[in-house]
Amino acid sequence: MIKLIGILGGTFNPIHYGHLRMAQELADVLGFDEVRFIPAATPPHKPTPEVSPGQRAAMVELAISNNPLFKLDTRELERTGASYTIDTLISLREELGENVALCLILGSDAFVKLNTWHRWQELINNCHIILVQRPNLAVQPKLPEELTTLLHDHYTENISDLSTKTAGYVQMQKITPLDISSTKIRDDLKLGRSQRYLVPYNIIEYISTHKLYK
Ligand code: ATP
Repeated sequence: MIKLIGILGGTFNPIHYGHLRMAQELADVLGFDEVRFIPAATPPHKPTPEVSPGQRAAMVELAISNNPLFKLDTRELERTGASYTIDTLISLREELGENVALCLILGSDAFVKLNTWHRWQELINNCHIILVQRPNLAVQPKLPEELTTLLHDHYTENISDLSTKTAGYVQMQKITPLDISSTKIRDDLKLGRSQRYLVPYNIIEYISTHKLYK
């Protein structure tokens, strides 16, 4: 029996209910045995965050502490240099063995840029991709042709397919659209606006105690 592991990589600067609710809904619908939250050290696609990797990971840990399905995985913080998802998948496979399907969760904003990722063509040989719509993307960019081909070649609607092999399918899943982003949270915190009900309360307390996002 193949186990299904959800993989949610991100900057988590900070983690918010968009991340948490997406992970929960996918775990319920797809039957994940666990979801790994993997904070990126030096995100290859974004400016280096001013909040330290350790603080971003600490916030993830706090946010998921009451959910037995959710695990913090700090492997990208322990490596030096850029965090490449392909390396993370290979190292997860080495650790977890051949009997797990790694299900890489990607918001549509991340998916449309997938063809710019390091060794992106190898990703699908190492995981399934679970694609979710990010609500209200300012512009809905056209999907690059090579990603249309990836979708065409690997797409499945059947949830049960995900546990028939350990990698190789792309699936789209509808989730409750929550238009929450870390960028908006950081901008609003700078303006002194409350972030209650967008991020867990213990994260609000952590941000305030450590005087982050001033
Ligand atoms: P930032 O605003 O700093 O770019 P973010 O809110 O997009 O951050 P990330 O940590 O970069 O958060 O996101 C990690 C992953 O979670 C990405 O695949 C992203 O598309 C997805 N994601 C983040 N927020 C949401 C949301 N509200 N709904 C669906 N997917 C989301």
